[in-house]
Amino acid sequence: MKAIRVHEFGGPEVLHLEEVPEPQPSAGQVIVRIAAAGVNPVETYIRSGTYALKPPLPYTPGSDGAGTVAAVGQGVTRFAVGDRVYLAGSLSGTYAERALCEEGSLVPLPANTSFAQGAALYVPYGTAYQALFRRAKAHSGETLLVHGASGGVGIAAVQMARAAGLRVTGTAGTDRGRELVLAEGAHDALDHSAADHFEKALALTGGRGYDVIVEMLANVNLARDLTILARDGRVVVIGSRAPIEINPRDAMMRDASILGMTLRNATPADLAAIYAALAAGLENGTLRPVIGQQIPLAEAPRAHTAVMEPGAYGKIVLVP
Ligand code: NAP
Repeated sequence: MKAIRVHEFGGPEVLHLEEVPEPQPSAGQVIVRIAAAGVNPVETYIRSGTYALKPPLPYTPGSDGAGTVAAVGQGVTRFAVGDRVYLAGSLSGTYAERALCEEGSLVPLPANTSFAQGAALYVPYGTAYQALFRRAKAHSGETLLVHGASGGVGIAAVQMARAAGLRVTGTAGTDRGRELVLAEGAHDALDHSAADHFEKALALTGGRGYDVIVEMLANVNLARDLTILARDGRVVVIGSRAPIEINPRDAMMRDASILGMTLRNATPADLAAIYAALAAGLENGTLRPVIGQQIPLAEAPRAHTAVMEPGAYGKIVLVP
């Protein structure tokens, strides 16, 4: 089968499409024929060799994907050949025609959800859910700023929060991105590249401030996020690409909290809650992953360049 292989850390050009042996399932394992693989920013950090997590070389990137079950190992009871599934991680990497998975990391994919959408579920929607509901404990009637709403995690957060009864402001760097953010449920959309957008965001709450901010680029925004929080406000740091200096007094004056999160820390109970919430949201149509670009697997380097460029529009997925 064909798979993307990385033999050395570096730029997007180290992603090569190669012929590799078909994986074989051991007991408790499943082979999934990948119809689409999700591209997440973290896969570019790992590929560059600068991330805390460095897989042994060579490796196949990717943890998100969707497709059909191609083979099951001994003792697998929840899935049969032909079942539609989405992946919450894999053992062999999802940038490939097939992926080897633990049975426990597969989730049924509803019939109303395409494979491309299935590849956009686990990391983006799982992260948005953990950030909003487990870390920030967001609830109906609260105000939310999704700082970076046009990408994979941001769109997920907008849809979830709107369905849960929050008042949602979302930001994007382009007109097209802001139109998408509004179409997916934000009450208001602002341009995070405009210097005055913090003042505008605060004005949208009548000067009261946000109960919750989910932050995609904390190294740029965290200091000023603290100045537009309501009393007891919470900022959840989802993404950050460098250090930043903050004034702790801004948090102190508001009894505010800065909360970190990484989906890697989700417990089995957290994951069960995420899968249940996603199943309900896909079923009732409140969760609708937006696919901005479908790129052939062989062009994975282009996908890695695109995911780091400004002008996000939902998800980028690779198609074998
Ligand atoms: P993505 O699809 O590439 O989207 C990136 C988002 O960041 C876009 O909405 C982009 O908006 C926005 N952005 C750009 N400049 C910004 C600014 N100055 N202020 C606020 N937002 C800005 O990426 P993603 O998958 O949504 O992930 C977002 C971030 O979260 C990444 O850093 C990723 O590594 C991280 N992440 C963390 C976890 C975790 O477990 N903690 C999980 C998933 C992702 P425009 O392009 O419209 O400017």
